[in-house]
Amino acid sequence: MPIATVNPATGETLQTFEALGAEEIERRLAAAHAAFRSYRTTEFAERARLLNRAADLLESEQADIARTMTTEMGKPVAAARAEAAKCAKAMRWYAKHAAELLADEHPSRADAEDSGAGRAYTRYRPLGVVLAVMPWNFPLWQVVRFAAPALMAGNTGLLKHASNVPQTALYLGELFERAGYPQGCFQTLLIGSGAVEAILRDPRVAAATLTGSEPAGRSVAAVAGDEVKKTVLELGGSDPYIVMPSADVGRAARIAVTARVQNNGQSCIAAKRFIVHTDVYDAFTEEFTTRMAALTVGDPLDESTDVGPLATEQGRTDLEELVDDAVRRGATALCGGGRPEGDDRGWFFSPTVLMGITTDMRIHHEEAFGPVATVYRVTSADEAVRVANDTPFGLSSNVWTRDDGEVDLFVRDLEAGGVFFNGMTASHPALPFGGVKRSGYGRELAAHGIREFCNITTVWHGADPGE
Ligand code: NAP
Repeated sequence: MPIATVNPATGETLQTFEALGAEEIERRLAAAHAAFRSYRTTEFAERARLLNRAADLLESEQADIARTMTTEMGKPVAAARAEAAKCAKAMRWYAKHAAELLADEHPSRADAEDSGAGRAYTRYRPLGVVLAVMPWNFPLWQVVRFAAPALMAGNTGLLKHASNVPQTALYLGELFERAGYPQGCFQTLLIGSGAVEAILRDPRVAAATLTGSEPAGRSVAAVAGDEVKKTVLELGGSDPYIVMPSADVGRAARIAVTARVQNNGQSCIAAKRFIVHTDVYDAFTEEFTTRMAALTVGDPLDESTDVGPLATEQGRTDLEELVDDAVRRGATALCGGGRPEGDDRGWFFSPTVLMGITTDMRIHHEEAFGPVATVYRVTSADEAVRVANDTPFGLSSNVWTRDDGEVDLFVRDLEAGGVFFNGMTASHPALPFGGVKRSGYGRELAAHGIREFCNITTVWHGADPGE
């Protein structure tokens, strides 16, 4: 994929970039490694000062970077501003909490006595240079939710961002530099995916994190596995959104629209499969479809737009093929189903609701990365769980119910990294984020996220033999 800014609302190439050559990559690797040697010994207070400074800059530049993101990948500009604000908040959260999250841990008194150690504790030390391979869909947030904890833990970072968001990628590298981080602490590498393997195999790189598709994750994890390097993978999702009879159906239908079309439908944690109890199926589906059909599709820089274009032409082709396959095999489009009529510039796709899904349809097993919802009718909570789990993915899940017994059943049985009741899936710095099955492994955010790229070191002082 060429490294370029191509406006998805018009298809126009606005700027192209040369990929870094071998010499420049080497220079940046060396800088990242050298920076780690000293940065790892800095105090939490100093790291927090730098991260808060980066948050200040980001907040003051929110409007500009939001327009850049929208121009590069098509998200509605208000959502882009909200993304920048969320990043600043996460930076401040880690700046405030990292010291306590990474404080030495001491065993209980009973375990300490039992161990025979004079004194023993666990210390979280940084791992080193971490390579972050990131996607375009939340071009700031995906990076910041890695960078903020990794830098607070004392690691240094190299960012290989998606090739279609180079200006956002460059902005991120400069942001940390302007915040005053020592040279080499966080650098953007404008490179294609073919350059990732050699960097990951370099002995100066300790670990990698990848957010993106399953093939990309598999490829990076295979190389890292071969090198015995730690990885965190945040991959695709096809989250269920279950609506049971006790739910507030009107509210469930209203939130369902946002849960499906946020970020033009290109969110890993978007609700994609709507699994509705037969008692409320008609009411839910009618309200949901009416609202989906009423969304404004158009220029993402226009503040009144609900749904902008898909980020890439290939992404729209993939989505079209998924919908066409379902319709060919008997699904019905209650609304949408293809490109909107009119201006055919840009990579738009109409918000779509499909019913009559069967297991032979690709969309039943694959991720629909765009504003396309599938609706299933079920007759019990057990059947809802069966349908929900009938996917290779396991990122998050949503359940609408006011029945406590059902709450316990869904928490126990849904195969997902999150179960959100009576609301849509979201991420927050204080709560871990990640999936199971083909959605990846490891966690981001909260204590779990900051500890992923730490050397969890056991420190043991032998008991004085004279005691
Ligand atoms: P993608 O094609 O996998 O790209 C993601 C990143 O991986 C890009 O930087 C890409 O570089 C790079 N890449 C691709 N193939 C690679 C390879 N073989 N080796 C090394 N790097 C490689 O994914 P996408 O289309 O940008 O993003 C959509 C996917 O990301 C969806 O499946 C979505 O669900 C998932 N996602 C998951 C999460 C989560 O937290 N679980 C969050 C957001 C998105 P190039 O751009 O240069 O190809």
